[in-house]
Amino acid sequence: MALFIFLFGCIIGSFLNVCIYRIPQNKSIAFPGSHCPKCSTPLKWFDLLPVLSFVFLKGRCRYCGERISPRYPAVELLNGIIYLFLYYNFGLGIDFFYYSQIVSVLIVIFFIDIDHQIIPNSLVLVVFLWDIVFKIVSYFILNEPLSILNYLGGLAVGAVFFILIFILSKGGMGGGDIKLIGAFGFILGMPRILLNMFLSFMLGGIISIFLLIFKIKKRKDPIAFGPFLIIGFLISLFWGYEIIYWYLYKVLG
Ligand SMILES: [Zn+2]
Repeated sequence: MALFIFLFGCIIGSFLNVCIYRIPQNKSIAFPGSHCPKCSTPLKWFDLLPVLSFVFLKGRCRYCGERISPRYPAVELLNGIIYLFLYYNFGLGIDFFYYSQIVSVLIVIFFIDIDHQIIPNSLVLVVFLWDIVFKIVSYFILNEPLSILNYLGGLAVGAVFFILIFILSKGGMGGGDIKLIGAFGFILGMPRILLNMFLSFMLGGIISIFLLIFKIKKRKDPIAFGPFLIIGFLISLFWGYEIIYWYLYKVLG
């Protein structure tokens, strides 16, 4: 079963690559089928095997020899590994279904933001609506508590904090970041949204300094903040309560 879950994750990952490539160009993610971006030759089924095709073809297009970015198999592997992680932690139930969709959409946002410094509204909306559906389903089917005030509080705290930064930084923080952190606040609620923001700024600061020191980026270059928000969010989503508990009771005593 685990192998099946992993392969399923890689296949979905292959579709995520299509989304990352096409959504910023406003192209359909369904038609036409996948083709080489250089020579436009439509790919056959054996060119589309996740990861394996890349290995067999030694990272080049079969038709024109153009280099294929190793990011394609990396995204496939990443999604496969995350699905495996979810399967081991949650089994195959509503939780798996919910988390796998959220994480996959976030992978798409992650790479689109790195490539284009934009966070498509449509994708944030998908995450937001998907979470509302999950909260309603959990309430009626799993009898989980529904603390709407807490979710709205999380949304407000995240969004207001970022709007302040948006104003203070004179637009250095994008509108997409504000919407994304608002959605994260709604998903996590209080107090986990605070951890999300703390982790994201820590990580963003550390990585930015690293990129500047090693001259991968120059001072004026834009650095997408979405990826840091997403990493902070996922840590808070899966381990948020443990980390906060540990901090309050072990560190502060
Ligand atoms: Zn080609």
